[in-house]
Amino acid sequence: MARIESFEMPEFLKRSEMKLYIDGRSIAAKSGKTFETRNPATGELLAKIAEADESDVDIAVKSARKAFDGPWRTMKPIERQKILLNLANIMDARYSELATLDTLELGAPLSKTVLGKNRAAALLRYYAGQIPLVRGDTLSNSAPGDVISHTLKEPIGVVAAINPWNGPAGMSVWKAGPVLASGCTMIMKPSEETSLSALLFAEMCSEAGVPDGVINVVTGHGAAGAALSNHPDVDKIAFTGSTGVGVKIMQAAATSMKRVSVELGGKSPNIVFADANLDKAVPAAARAVFANSGQICSAGTRLFVQSEIYDEFMEKLVAHTKTLIVGDPLDSDTHFGPVVSKLQLDKIMGYIEGAKNSSAKLLAGGHRMTSNGFENGNFVEPTIFGDVEDDMVIAREEIFGPVLSALRFDTIEEVIERANNTNFGLASAVWTRDLATAHRMSRGIRAGSVWINCYQMLDPNVPFGGYKMSGFGRESGPHHIDDYLETKAVWIDLD
Ligand code: NAP
Ligand code: MG
Repeated sequence: MARIESFEMPEFLKRSEMKLYIDGRSIAAKSGKTFETRNPATGELLAKIAEADESDVDIAVKSARKAFDGPWRTMKPIERQKILLNLANIMDARYSELATLDTLELGAPLSKTVLGKNRAAALLRYYAGQIPLVRGDTLSNSAPGDVISHTLKEPIGVVAAINPWNGPAGMSVWKAGPVLASGCTMIMKPSEETSLSALLFAEMCSEAGVPDGVINVVTGHGAAGAALSNHPDVDKIAFTGSTGVGVKIMQAAATSMKRVSVELGGKSPNIVFADANLDKAVPAAARAVFANSGQICSAGTRLFVQSEIYDEFMEKLVAHTKTLIVGDPLDSDTHFGPVVSKLQLDKIMGYIEGAKNSSAKLLAGGHRMTSNGFENGNFVEPTIFGDVEDDMVIAREEIFGPVLSALRFDTIEEVIERANNTNFGLASAVWTRDLATAHRMSRGIRAGSVWINCYQMLDPNVPFGGYKMSGFGRESGPHHIDDYLETKAVWIDLD
């Protein structure tokens, strides 16, 4: 065991209570209620967190509205840019504080969460770079007389950002980038499982010079998210989470015609052709599904392997999986930590037990880990089922845990059809050395990302999002900021 030597409990956790962050200040929930957050590796209590209800959400929305109506939205581009760049510099200097809070609450290894620093800083610099590029058009028209027309781009207004628990700090940054770049304001609702880094991130925004009320955080349960999505003075909801809650959000948004973007779940196919480079494809197939203990929306949970290499591939994959270390998130040798909560653990074990009673073959893992220091944590072995059929539950539903379903296929036409035979369409990957196969697959798959000979590539300049029940809207990329802007047509009759 090589426990990360420099580890110290963060200063942030020494506060007696974690409060809401509204209008640039920490304030208790009006009801005085709190909820607990615990370390999923040990079961230890980490903190008590203010539990927002409708009345707190209303205060936060008023604060965001006041900030939106203030000087923020008319601030010169170069001033807003400076603030985003300050925030990027703070990420460079202090991201490890956010990463530590995520490790303690989520259970992801510290050696992995700290790697989020580069992406966080790069995202903020990317959105800073987009600020001066926001522009309308001068458009010709055929109106009689001498009439000119042009468009103005204006920030949409108050945004509710509702987040899941599987990558909390990175998610806060991803949501804040386009909000700050466009001149919108935001109320963020982190998951009740992982609230801490969002609260610290909001304080870092203030330190960077973000005006009070522009970034607010309300912590609490789903009810706080529902209060936000029902609030008449919220203009847009940027939701990342499960498809079930995404549907509720869209229904709630309809009454006041809020703009909505929804990044939802997935059951992504990872497709290996017989000509693939197996030395790359085998470890990548394991990372694709086991990274973050399987708690990644774009995880490659359906592994399709061409029949002629199926046995060889699975043998190598199982051998590789046995070398992966599940353990203490503070140990630098650990590859994967626990899953986030007892609830999630029970859900995952339910899927595993169900599959054990089917004709699928258990090839690796399949158990909860309950001895040698794992007693009080939510640890699950990396699990592989072989000979899975398309209609089995583990081939259809998002498990959100370290469980891989492997399926055989023969032809390209067949695998396109089977890969698309799902309600989801978030991501996919294809392993082949054949150019034609790579292009045909990337055209044939109905998903927001197709990774060829790689997995889980993300970049601030490349859009990410879903087809079908995986949602709509694209985060990152040159057009993301458009989701935060309205287009106004201006007509001027010169006669
Ligand atoms: P979730 O249960 O849908 O929760 C997401 C957020 O919505 C949480 O903050 C939750 O609060 C809140 N919420 C719950 N009920 C609500 C309601 N009725 N109205 C408004 N908000 C409500 O998802 P999760 O379990 O946290 O996260 C896992 C899911 O997120 C997976 O399905 C995963 O695929 C998806 N995900 C997608 C992406 C992507 O980019 N496509 C990225 C990451 C995760 P509480 O936590 O307090 O209940
Ligand atoms: Mg927890």
